[in-house]
Amino acid sequence: MKEKFIPYGRQDIDEEDIKAVVDVLRSDYLTTGPKIDEFEKKFAEYVGAKYAVAISNGTAALHGACYAAGIGKGDEVITTPITFAASSNAVLYCGGTPVFADIDPKTYNIDPQEIRKKITANTKAIIPVHYTGQPCDMDEIIKIAKEYNLIIIEDAAHGLGADYKGRKIGSIGDMTTFSFHPVKHITTGEGGMITTNDEELYNKLILFRTHGITRDKIMLHNQEEGPWYYEQLVLGYNYRMTDIQCSLGISQLKKLDGYVMKRREIAERYNKAFENIEGMIIPNQAEGHHSSWHLYVIQLDGKIKSARKEIFNQLRTAGLGVNVHYIPVYYFPYYQGLGYTKGQCPKAEEFYEGIITLPLFPTMTDEDIEYVIEKVIKVVKS
Ligand SMILES: *Cc1c(COP(=O)(O)O)cnc(C)c1O
Repeated sequence: MKEKFIPYGRQDIDEEDIKAVVDVLRSDYLTTGPKIDEFEKKFAEYVGAKYAVAISNGTAALHGACYAAGIGKGDEVITTPITFAASSNAVLYCGGTPVFADIDPKTYNIDPQEIRKKITANTKAIIPVHYTGQPCDMDEIIKIAKEYNLIIIEDAAHGLGADYKGRKIGSIGDMTTFSFHPVKHITTGEGGMITTNDEELYNKLILFRTHGITRDKIMLHNQEEGPWYYEQLVLGYNYRMTDIQCSLGISQLKKLDGYVMKRREIAERYNKAFENIEGMIIPNQAEGHHSSWHLYVIQLDGKIKSARKEIFNQLRTAGLGVNVHYIPVYYFPYYQGLGYTKGQCPKAEEFYEGIITLPLFPTMTDEDIEYVIEKVIKVVKS
């Protein structure tokens, strides 16, 4: 018999998804066909944004957003260290400088007061990350952005389906980026999306996604050439998503609300089971912030905090695909080589020392959930 192993995240692909992919394989367009537009329209509608741009992955989405925001050499962009490296790498791709602001130890999200401390004359943008799916304090972040004329790029790789004071994530900041990697809320294998309400940003993103090339008559410098003619206007990339992926995305999007509901249910069960366990801190939810629960992260506290490694190993041995999200980005040798030093975000560093991500995905069975609860309590208490 195969030993029990419950991963921390897993996709759900049903027959309808498979049919959606196969239908495209039998059609005329494998890429740059009608499924791109359809996915973009439906996605924009879902989050309540004017425009959506499908792009090859969540990292390319961040790269595109930084490009469209005009980030370049000398520009500083403030983000959180408790994120996947892509959030700040995108700034580096554009020649800008990531600046890390510390987290709020209650929500684990970037703390607006810490953002204020990091603002200089060179600050150009803020990249709040809706860590685990809990929306950041957007009212405060918007206030700061207005005060200093900064662009907001929300990294919502965890936040699809979340809402903030009645508004869906994806409709709030200047641009919002999403990922469709298999551990995220919906998947297209690899894939990403940028949403915006700003037409100018939208036009920049469209160019950026395909080499900076356009056939759009009104944008061409030379109006005299024939129907074959196109122009490259800026330096873009090939960051296109395929019709195969977009068709899968359209099919997955139909199930998103159900997925989010299931994630919320599981998180609720974990909360109840763990709320009174000594040495364990459960994730705190701010008033009016409705998480989409990409991750369920517990924090070890007090005497057992220093035993994180042993506890982690015991949970793995028990068949739980536990993980740690995240190592503060500036700990990495690459960032240290750029001159970032440890100690700059002490609350994030404290947080990192105690965290463990538990399995959470919509197809978990009752038996899986009970198994996780039982093993976690047993290991933490021993
Ligand atoms: C997954 C993720 C990304 C990158 O998305 P990819 O589609 O894997 O490129 C960026 N930021 C965060 C916070 C993520 O979790």
